[in-house]
Amino acid sequence: MALQEVKVRALAPARLGSLLGPERAQRFETSAATARALLEGRAVVNVNSTATGGGVAELLQTLHAYARGAGVDARWVVIEGNPRFFEITKRIHNHLYGTPGDGGPLGAAERRDYEETLRRNVTGLLDLVGADDIVVLHDPQTAALAAAIRRAGAHVVWRCHVGIDSPNEHSERGWEFLRPYVDDVDGYVFSCERFAPAWVPREHLAVIAPSIDPFSAKNESIAPATVAPLLQYVGMLEGGGHEPVGTFTRRDGSRGHVTRRVDLVGTGPPPPPDAPVVLQASRWDALKDMPGVLIGFADQVVGRTDAHLVLAGPQTSGVTDDPEANKVLDECVALWRKLPKPAQRRIHLACVPMADPDEAAAIVNVLQRHATVVVQKSLAEGFGLTVVEAMWKSRPVIGTAVGGIVDQIVTGETGFLLDDAHDLERYAHSVCSLLGNPMECDRMGTNGRQRAEQKFLGDRHLEEWAHLFARLRPR
Ligand code: UDP
Repeated sequence: MALQEVKVRALAPARLGSLLGPERAQRFETSAATARALLEGRAVVNVNSTATGGGVAELLQTLHAYARGAGVDARWVVIEGNPRFFEITKRIHNHLYGTPGDGGPLGAAERRDYEETLRRNVTGLLDLVGADDIVVLHDPQTAALAAAIRRAGAHVVWRCHVGIDSPNEHSERGWEFLRPYVDDVDGYVFSCERFAPAWVPREHLAVIAPSIDPFSAKNESIAPATVAPLLQYVGMLEGGGHEPVGTFTRRDGSRGHVTRRVDLVGTGPPPPPDAPVVLQASRWDALKDMPGVLIGFADQVVGRTDAHLVLAGPQTSGVTDDPEANKVLDECVALWRKLPKPAQRRIHLACVPMADPDEAAAIVNVLQRHATVVVQKSLAEGFGLTVVEAMWKSRPVIGTAVGGIVDQIVTGETGFLLDDAHDLERYAHSVCSLLGNPMECDRMGTNGRQRAEQKFLGDRHLEEWAHLFARLRPR
């Protein structure tokens, strides 16, 4: 079984300097030097289950680039799994989010198949890991690798990106399945403290929120005048020519051209360039509640505004560890087909081509920049990178008060937190009130940008990891 090593170009911490200011940049340099000294001769190997699509791949890309730039021997490997394995791990993932997922069992047969897949990844992984290295295992997909790595003398940190604010029977079942694999690791990282079950020893727990790379294709600044033409070129706005108009920075530093088109899965024509756009850009995952965003908009926003809704997600073949994507997309298409014509004209589903992840990121970048209001109406959320990405682009964000979204949006200042994800009236009311108040959108957008800059850049993120490594349980 082939593990895939993802090569990431190092980015010098100094690159962030212009945004951090001298004092913060100096602190970043100091903590990079401390991390270098602590990790001298040791590798930090991150292991997850997909190189593209979704927040974990996105944040690993950023973290690695800056860790390597800080002089740390950071590596990233992706395990291989089969559809049965990802069916089981998605079920665990959904359970940890407090939902039954596909309703299937998590019993002895699932344990056997889950362990078997990970066993087949062990040899390849151990070839890359030396005694005293640190291996960071991400999410349930990699948890059962912990014992073999610890036996080989390396430290194991389990980084869990998912969780629920108050445990329920489903989350308990998910933890029952997982606990034997991660009961005895050297450190734990969660996005929110309340996600960590009671048996996680607090002295080995760190709470670390992700960060964004302000210079990546996803977040780099774009001349405002090129945003609409690029969206026209990819087919996300009406009009425009056929010549490629947009370039972006690839992760290897070269420039790329956007050449592929977005697939509107029959929900075109796209919005006119001057129409306000409400955007939710997420994986096609039931917990992102794309159907709820669509229904609330159709029933309660279409008649009160002239805005269009864009629900954008990755092309469904693009995220290997997410077997539910087609089902959710099909559900959204079926809902759209039943809408009255006026609502159909104002609501669009969009699949972003994933063949080139940097190009995909560039398309999401312009979608977020063009949006008047960004929504993240998740039923549960680990962190929700889409929120900070939109804040970075000075967009007001309406998100559910779940998981890490709560730590990002300051209600009334950078957007609105919705206490109840199922309260479509409240959601529609928040959307309409922002659409009707451009000055408020500007104010909240400006605040959001400041908050993203203060709290969610790589310096804070790397410092927190370095701090955790320094206090890892000795082996
Ligand atoms: N995203 C993307 N293409 C899309 C929709 C979303 O690349 O069509 C990205 C989005 O910009 C963000 C990530 O996928 O970087 C989603 O991360 P988040 O933490 O919001 O949720 P997760 O997918 O981890 O549950």
